[in-house]
Amino acid sequence: MKDSERKISVCPKCGRTYTDRPALSRTDNETLICPDCGTREALESIGVSEKECDDIIAIIHRHYDSEN
Ligand SMILES: [Zn+2]
Repeated sequence: MKDSERKISVCPKCGRTYTDRPALSRTDNETLICPDCGTREALESIGVSEKECDDIIAIIHRHYDSEN
């Protein structure tokens, strides 16, 4: 898959635009959401608090930012 072919999508959950592969929302199993919201839903489903979700997502972003 070429990077230039990546589409820009709008996440219906947080309203942000993203170009990464979308995640499937766990709430209805058909809505496509951004990877951050997908991560958040997965974490919340195993009992991770909102604050911890924020921390984990921040760490993920730091990891990807250092790779790019
Ligand atoms: Zn989102």
